[in-house]
Formats: sequence, C-alpha cells, structure tokens
Amino acid sequence: MIRINKHYQKLKASYLFSDIAGRVKAYQEAHPDQELIKLGIGDVTLPLCPACIRAFEEGVREMGQEESFRGYGPEQGYLFLQKAIAAGDYASRGVSIDPEEIFISDGAKCDTGNFQELFSQDITVAVPDPVYTVYVDTNVMAGRTGEWKNGVYENLIYLSSGSQTAFLPPLPRQRADLIYLCFPNNPTGAVAGRDELTKWVAYAQENRSLILFDGCYESYITDDALPHSIFEIPGAKEVAVELRSFSKTAGFTGTRCAFTVVPRECRAFNEAGGEVKLHPLWNRRQSTKFNGVSYPVQRAAEAIYTPEGQKQVREQVAYYLANAALIRSALTDLGLETFGGVHSPYIWVNVKRDSWEFFDELLARAQVVCTPGSGFGPGGAGYIRISAFNSRANVEKALSRLSALRLAP
Ligand code: PLP
Repeated sequence: MIRINKHYQKLKASYLFSDIAGRVKAYQEAHPDQELIKLGIGDVTLPLCPACIRAFEEGVREMGQEESFRGYGPEQGYLFLQKAIAAGDYASRGVSIDPEEIFISDGAKCDTGNFQELFSQDITVAVPDPVYTVYVDTNVMAGRTGEWKNGVYENLIYLSSGSQTAFLPPLPRQRADLIYLCFPNNPTGAVAGRDELTKWVAYAQENRSLILFDGCYESYITDDALPHSIFEIPGAKEVAVELRSFSKTAGFTGTRCAFTVVPRECRAFNEAGGEVKLHPLWNRRQSTKFNGVSYPVQRAAEAIYTPEGQKQVREQVAYYLANAALIRSALTDLGLETFGGVHSPYIWVNVKRDSWEFFDELLARAQVVCTPGSGFGPGGAGYIRISAFNSRANVEKALSRLSALRLAP
C-alpha cells in the first residue's frame, strides 16, 4: 500500500499567500470594476536591468551555436559566477570565501527548504517568530515537529520577538541544534548589528549548533557599519551556512538564481559526537538531486557584479527603499506604529487588532492588499506587513487612499 508522509498532514490548511490570493480573488469577483493595489506578496515589479538582459541574451545566443553550446553544467554552478560572488559580495567586505564554497542554485526558497535534510530527524529546531514560513513548514514536513496546537507546532522552539527588542529574536532558553536567522528580516525588517550576530555565533559554538543565516535582503542594508554577512563575525565559518538570492537584489524572482555558502570549516556532528564537515555533504546532496541553474541565467547573474550591473541593481534597490520610506512616513503620520523599511523593503505595522480583520478592512475600504502578520507566526498577530515592491505611482495612490481612512486604533 502506498502511504503518504504523515507529517504533511500536520501542515496548516494552506500557505499564507494562497489564503491571501483566495480572499483577493473573491473580492475582485464581487467588485470587478475596482482597481486593487497589491502591497502584499514580496514579488518585485521592476524589470531586469539592461546589464543583466545583455548578458542573458548573449548566453542564449551562445547556446544556439554549435561551438559555444553547453549541455549540463556543474551542479555547484559555473566558476565564473562563483568567483564573481566571492569577490563582489565577500572579498569586498574583507571576508575570504573560496569560490568553491559557493553553491549556485535556483532559489533560496529551495535551499532553505532543502538544507535541513542533512540533519538528523531528532534535532531541536529554533525559528524566529515572526518569520518566513518556509523554515517552519519544511521542518514540519521532515517530521521534526509535533502537531499544530493552539497556533504553534509542538516541539519547535519559537524565538518570539517584539517591539521592545526591535524584533531581534532572543537566544533560546533550551538547547537548539539548528537555528534559523533572517536579517534583514522578513517580515519585520529588523536588522542585526555586529554584537547581536556575535552573540549567536558564540551560542552556536557553545551548544554545537548550526545557524542557517538567510541574508536574502542583504542588498537593502544601507548602513555600511552593519554586517552584511554572518561570516564577518569571527568564528562564524564553523557554525553557519549563509543563503543569498538575486531575487530581491536584482529582480530575479522569475529568472531564478541564488546561492548558498557552505564554508569548508562548517561542521555538524555524527551519532558518536564526531565532527562531520557539511561542505562535502551538501555537495553530495546537490550533485545527486540538482542539475544546476541554466547557463544564460548564471551569465545574467554574473553581470550584476560588473560596474554597470552594480550601478543598475543599486538603483533598483534604492527605488524600492524610497517607496519604503514613503510608506513608513505616511503610516506614521496616520498614527500607526511602524518598524522596518529602512534596511528592508518591508514595513511592519502594529495595527493593534486582528491582522486578518485589518487585511479585510484595507481590502474593502481602500482596495489595498497587505499581508496579515499572523501568517508569519504567532508573534505576527496584531501586525501587518506592507511591501515596497511596487511602482512609485501605485505606492502613492495606495497611500492617498489610506490617508482618507481612519486607520489608527
Ligand atoms: N528567504 C526569504 C527570507 C524570503 O523572503 C524569500 C522570498 O520571499 C526567499 C528566501 C526566497 O527567495 P528565492 O526567490 O531566491 O527563492
């Protein structure tokens, strides 16, 4: 008898964004002539920059000619892109990363979801709360949690943070083997300073834990004094793996390219407590289950690191950050308490009431779509997330609709 993975049945009925899509669709069907402005889902809206498009087209042209055609590429990614990342993202900040420690992939979502399979099923897992839901759901699927009860999964450590601690998650009170960190954070926009990250690295060293550091929004950090990578912290290479993506940096959400850095020093432990390096394990996993990102896409990603590409993608990030500043200041003027939006494209808003109720009200009264905070974990209750990934015109229109409402509690 073919039997299913019983852990899938523990998953909450649906994924946050499908819930939102369902409500939006129902509203649109009932009000076909109303124009909606979507400040909800974290998808970008600006097109790929000219430098990336040129490299992309050139890559496609090469694939169309016998002398430059390429079949399967290296599962780990092409060396030209690994080298560009090592130089552009790491050496430029004084961090030495060997290009072969960088694994190119088709998305940080897959990498965050897949990496946990290197670990034993009985490890303890800690996730910030609120946070990107993929960390939680993939551990549920892997059978590391108990049932969903009273709004939380049993046997999962929630590192609940609030406005009093600037949404920085606290160290776990009980021992956590695998810890997910996400800075700048989705959804709160919180960013960690050097002392904060140093504290986490020390915890992981003392407790023989591993940190999965999701730095997908790194390019939104506007203060050069803040760490852009966990590897800027001494000792982090033994205890952390870093995930990055070109999705929000360069508009690659539909093009798909990301990478995971697994330093050669990075370790976990076997049943007998002996050290096992993660680099060869992840290499084995990727070589077995993944066949690489397409050549033209990797050429397009490489172009981000040229002077022209850097200028163009920075302009895109600056555009979204300017939207974020507008949203933040307009909502503050309306009397709402806001967080994030400075080193992040997300503005986290304290609506002081049920976040789905606020979502429905915003949809019905302003035809603006946001993301209810409770979808990011129990700690998101009473908040909504607004995304700056839209055109300036749409952001301005949405804000003028909101200013006509009394939104503050
Ligand atoms: N990590 C975080 C925190 C995200 O918010 C997202 C996308 O929204 C991802 C990872 C996924 O990135 P990718 O598009 O590379 O799969």
